[in-house]
Amino acid sequence: MESCLFCRIAKHELPAKVVYEDDRVIAFDDINPQAPMHILIVPHKHIPTLNDATAADNDLLLHMFAVARKLAQQNGVAHSGYRTVFNVNSEAGQSVFHLHLHVLGGRKLSWP
Ligand code: AMP
Ligand code: ZN
Repeated sequence: MESCLFCRIAKHELPAKVVYEDDRVIAFDDINPQAPMHILIVPHKHIPTLNDATAADNDLLLHMFAVARKLAQQNGVAHSGYRTVFNVNSEAGQSVFHLHLHVLGGRKLSWP
């Protein structure tokens, strides 16, 4: 996916403030943060939305949540509270069609 923004960030072709990376995911600060901590966890694999993930991606999805937990602990919000979000398609406001897990924390969050 040469034109995909998050594929290009994952390949380090575009800049981002990377806070974590391994062989399966990259995590970086959201460019328009909605909370003091707002990190996106992005798989290297191009999956457009959660709807496109298959059973073969189950381990990857679990890994994304494990990375979210680790980053929340490192940022000191694990106890105070944080939120993990997959926006899926238009009514949820998905704007980048490469799967990403938002991790938000550091302030009191309203719902939804
Ligand atoms: P979503 O609306 O769930 O698709 O989330 C996309 C997120 O990507 C938004 O929170 C944007 O602020 C963020 N975003 C867009 N472009 C960039 C970028 N170049 N670097 C970091 N975050 C970005
Ligand atoms: Zn992509």
